[in-house]
Amino acid sequence: MSLESTRPLLLRLNFPFCAHRCAYCPQQSQPHTEVALRAYGQAMLVEMAAAAEEGEGRTVTAVSLEGGCPGLMSADSLQDILRGLRKHFPLADDVQISVQTMPGEYSQAFMRKLRDNGVSFWTVGLQTAVLEEHLLLDRPYKFDALTMVDAALKNFDPRLLNFELLYGIPGQTSLSLGRSLEKVLAYEPDHITLAPLRLLHGTRLYDRCRAGAVKPMEPQMAANLYEEAAERLESLGYRRYTASGFARPGGQDRFRLGLLQGEDLLGLGYEAKSCLDGLCYSTGHNFNEYLAHSGELEIVADQVAQLSGEDQALRLALGRLERLEAVEGSALGERLSPLLKSGELEDTGEGYRLTPLGIASGALYRIG
Ligand code: SF4
Repeated sequence: MSLESTRPLLLRLNFPFCAHRCAYCPQQSQPHTEVALRAYGQAMLVEMAAAAEEGEGRTVTAVSLEGGCPGLMSADSLQDILRGLRKHFPLADDVQISVQTMPGEYSQAFMRKLRDNGVSFWTVGLQTAVLEEHLLLDRPYKFDALTMVDAALKNFDPRLLNFELLYGIPGQTSLSLGRSLEKVLAYEPDHITLAPLRLLHGTRLYDRCRAGAVKPMEPQMAANLYEEAAERLESLGYRRYTASGFARPGGQDRFRLGLLQGEDLLGLGYEAKSCLDGLCYSTGHNFNEYLAHSGELEIVADQVAQLSGEDQALRLALGRLERLEAVEGSALGERLSPLLKSGELEDTGEGYRLTPLGIASGALYRIG
């Protein structure tokens, strides 16, 4: 699988570990004892060295450390991984390295170590600042963890700060979403991610909704909440540059944007997905096999598929829709008419665009 090309490259480093499974998330966590985490860090370094041999001629423009919770790794392991990146891949001078965090997960010393190794975009996965919603989502941190965020950020310049919030949480109201926004705006973040809550099979929240214990929010109401929050952010100087991304000047999430622009992606770590020149695969059939053979792509590559020209055109069209651009109906094929009928897409005369309902209902996840 040759990566040779002069095109930019995105790197996703996957850390499939969670301290606890949130009620709305189907992610399976891998064992995260100290020994397992250390072995995982070593396996990722081995994979990195092997992947670099094939990656010559590309420049990495954005890197994302995500999962799961990268913060379950030790600061030293993450430092080794960030140093490994610089050793094995040509990074653009202005490369953006982002990391997903939980509120209160990192001390300032931890953050300083990562920042000294190039991390420049911090996502705090808050999701809500309202106690009832926090309990419903069953997040893996204490509700008052924001006080630890305060301590970590005191007199510390994280460069770019992003807060992630969910809308469409059962029982959420315009007032409660407004309270969450208020809380995160107090940090004057450069970026806010406003994502729809998706009810996914295999999650506790889905089961509770099916059993009638919780009433899911109607998509139109979620769309109204989204629009109201989006207009508020725009009035405060945040530009809506994707369906879920709101940024102050210079604060865009370049990894996410690159994905939506169809840039090639190399995933490192267990279950990381890659898509290079239309050849897509994920890594590892099972966790132990990944630990033992992370440097041998022939063994650990899974779900290998070459995208057809039509699939690639669809991928680009979905990326444009999510960047709030208009697309030709022909790029969506038979998907167009049901989306128009449901009101999730609209004909603007210059092409088809997502409506707030299409954004809130997660239409693109459904058809992508
Ligand atoms: S939402 Fe994040 S922290 Fe929660 S279970 Fe899913 S991956 Fe883990």
